[in-house]
This record gives sequence, structure tokens and C-alpha cells, in this order.
Amino acid sequence: MKRKGANNTYFGNITEAFDTLISGLKTTWKHIPLARKKRSAKNVDSDKYFEKQEGLFTVQYPRFEMPVPEKGRYQLHNEIEDCIVCDKCAKVCPVDCIDIEPVKATEEIGKTSDGTPKRIHAAKFDIDMAKCCFCGLCTTVCPTECLTMSQDYDYSTFDITDHNFPFSKMTEKEISDARADLEKAMEEKAAKARKKAENRATSESSEKSSEAAKPKAAKPKFKPRPMKKKIDSDTDDNKKDDN
Ligand code: SF4
Ligand code: SF4
Repeated sequence: MKRKGANNTYFGNITEAFDTLISGLKTTWKHIPLARKKRSAKNVDSDKYFEKQEGLFTVQYPRFEMPVPEKGRYQLHNEIEDCIVCDKCAKVCPVDCIDIEPVKATEEIGKTSDGTPKRIHAAKFDIDMAKCCFCGLCTTVCPTECLTMSQDYDYSTFDITDHNFPFSKMTEKEISDARADLEKAMEEKAAKARKKAENRATSESSEKSSEAAKPKAAKPKFKPRPMKKKIDSDTDDNKKDDN
């Protein structure tokens, strides 16, 4: 399409410039009286959410904030006291942004608020929100409902690594103690299993040697009588009976 004024005369271009300026200013002037009105903040649940509003469409953030939907997917939050470190959320995550390091406890370490026993320590529970695609799958599989999408969304940072949120509350010492306890328990279990296997082997060998020492029972000699003779004798008997 040929641009208006292109390849036109010098004065033609000047006229076009004025036309464009006036057209732009008309739009600006039209909005000046409307700018006195502000768009009212309406919750998505409101029936009037899609009602056409006039005036300024931007808000003076962060002094003013637009309401967010109650069930919106924003920042993930893990109530770590209720987490049983089952790893389901990490397994279902399509982008692998949940990083869990479980350390098995040697005994029950507490209960969640819904009464589920906790048997695994969360040495690490990190969620990298920079990778998260907000699909919400992790929250649906969580058996204790400790992983939720909160309504917090203002997490602007200068460094992308700041979007990695750690939820584990264990100190380095607690983690190393838990690991040491687990290692000790595993060693004890392995020693018990070894001893059990040794005892079984000893009893089996003693059973075998006692069996070998026993005299073998003599096999009964059994010779079946030849059938022919029996048949002959039966025939003789029959003959006798006939006589
Ligand atoms: S919302 Fe989706 S992408 Fe984000 S952590 Fe959960 S499963 Fe992963
Ligand atoms: S699914 Fe829930 S309970 Fe299991 S590890 Fe994830 S946050 Fe914890």
C-alpha cells in the first residue's frame, strides 16, 4: 500500500505531518477528561468483572494492587511440618523444578496435622519457581495437602537464582546427625542379617552331619508273586469246584 504523502511534494509532506499530529492529539484530548476516572478493582468472582470500564486502566502498583482470584496459581508454598517427604510432587513435576533430598529416619519423627506419621527427614526441599510452569500438578498429588499455590505473586528479583525457594528447616548438624543415625541403623541391620544367615548355615550343616551319622534303614525286600502261577492255581480250584 502506498503511504500517504510518500513521493509527494515538500509542502504535501508538511501537510501530512500536521494531519497526523492533530489526529494523535485528538485521541489524547479525548482521554484527558476520562483520566480523572480510575478503573475500579473488581474481583474475578464479581458478576461485573467483564463490565466495560472507563478511565485509567493501570494502577499505581505497588501502592494499589488488583485483587487476584482466590484459586489463582501463584507462588508455591510448602508447609514443611506437614510434609511426609513422599517425593510424589517431585515425580509428577513436568519440569523437574522440585528438588528433594530425603533422609530416612530410624524411628517415627512426628505426625502431620492430619495425623499421618512422619518417617523421613527433608534434608533438602527446594522449589525453583523460575522453572515452574504453574501447572498445579504437584498440589493435586500431595497426600497431606501441605503443598499449595499461595496468592503471593510479587517475587521480582535481580538474580534468577533468587527464585529458588528452600523449604527445609534442617540445619547442617541435624542433617549429618540424621545421616549418621541411618548409617548406624543400617550397619546394625546388616550385622543382624549376617548373624542370622550364619546361624542358619550352622544349623543346616549340623542337621546334615547328624543325618549322615544315622544308619540307613534296610529296604524291605518285596518280590511279587508271579501272576501266571496264581492264574494256574485259580484254574485248578475252578476245576475242582466243577468236579
Ligand atoms: S506447579 Fe507444575 S511445574 Fe510448578 S512445581 Fe508444581 S508440578 Fe512443577
Ligand atoms: S507430595 Fe506433599 S507430602 Fe509428598 S513430598 Fe511433596 S509436598 Fe511433601
